[in-house]
Amino acid sequence: MVFPTDISAMQAATPADTRGRQLRDLRISVTDRCNFRCTYCMPKEIYGRDFQFLERSQLLSFDEIHRLVTIFKSHGIEKVRITGGEPLVRRQLERLIAMLASDPDLDLTLTTNASLLRQKAQLLKDAGLRRVTVSLDSMNDEVFRAMNDVDFPVSKVLDGIEAADKVGLNPVKINMVVKRGVNDDSVVEMARYFKGSGHILRFIEFMDVGNTNGWKMENVVSSRDLVERINTVFPIEPIKPNYVGEVAERWRYVDGSGEVGFISSVTQAFCRDCTRTRLSAEGSIYTCLFATEGTDLRSLLRSGASDEKISDVIGNIWRARTDNYSETRTAETAKLRKVEMSYIGG
Ligand code: SAM
Ligand code: SF4
Ligand code: SF4
Repeated sequence: MVFPTDISAMQAATPADTRGRQLRDLRISVTDRCNFRCTYCMPKEIYGRDFQFLERSQLLSFDEIHRLVTIFKSHGIEKVRITGGEPLVRRQLERLIAMLASDPDLDLTLTTNASLLRQKAQLLKDAGLRRVTVSLDSMNDEVFRAMNDVDFPVSKVLDGIEAADKVGLNPVKINMVVKRGVNDDSVVEMARYFKGSGHILRFIEFMDVGNTNGWKMENVVSSRDLVERINTVFPIEPIKPNYVGEVAERWRYVDGSGEVGFISSVTQAFCRDCTRTRLSAEGSIYTCLFATEGTDLRSLLRSGASDEKISDVIGNIWRARTDNYSETRTAETAKLRKVEMSYIGG
């Protein structure tokens, strides 16, 4: 494996995109497979028995991912999120975590449905992971089982959260995708459950990622609406972002019992500060969650390209970046052919 010898020389070329945005966050999908079939992400009708997932040989190896992260770092990447599909179904993921966590300057985290978190929490912690984000869409078992569509119970997700907390993967962030008429009446109950727990609940507006989840604007509950619903029961007030480009708008309970976040990709686009890029499980880079095309880095890796060559390609892609999908979303753009969330990584 060849690593860049002079990172600072490569850093000098760290580019901003056409809108002046720097590259700061990298989301890495380590698999396009998942053991859930969340209706808003991998609907069963599409992701059924016959669906062709990537073969193992098509996935980037851990060494390839590590090498790319090192190159991306020279372009200014500070945060890496491991995602998927369900990242914990990738065998021995802790090996990758250990490789990436050996760099103390990298803020490394992982998003999971928590189905395997109880078994994996200690391994992940020992490998050097510091935090996890867990997806949970309702405290109502019936609603949650229907949303994950594999009859997975809330209690096991809570077990996973508890295990993560116990080994020190905290505070745990909890992601709840809110879909009108499906789980929006679970919002206050979720807030009640996690209020005072030390964990941070974040509400995500249902997004038109990909083309298979049947997205309609009428199913989106705006963050503004959610703030009102929560504020009526548990008064909350806005607080400052931790850093420029933070995706979630932060609010805190007035009684001091913690904070909640709102991710409003649909109703309050945050493209202006978007510093994220995504690496698919087969090694293509996408500069927007709603992209139609990616750029294949795996072929470069596997054809013996030098770090400098790969770095140039990444730099050129970022420099040419114009993405602002959420600022221009319409019912028509929602129908455009887009890459699927389970493939590109959420
Ligand atoms: N399987 C892991 C999980 O569910 O946490 C990681 C991958 S998942 C694609 C990452 C995040 O994207 C999850 O929090 C999920 O709820 C969110 N997500 C998936 N589809 C979405 C959609 N259509 N709108 C908003 N968020 C979505
Ligand atoms: Fe799987 Fe996560 Fe998508 Fe649900 S949101 S289907 S858990 S990848
Ligand atoms: Fe970034 Fe694309 Fe989302 Fe805008 S729509 S915030 S450019 S990922």
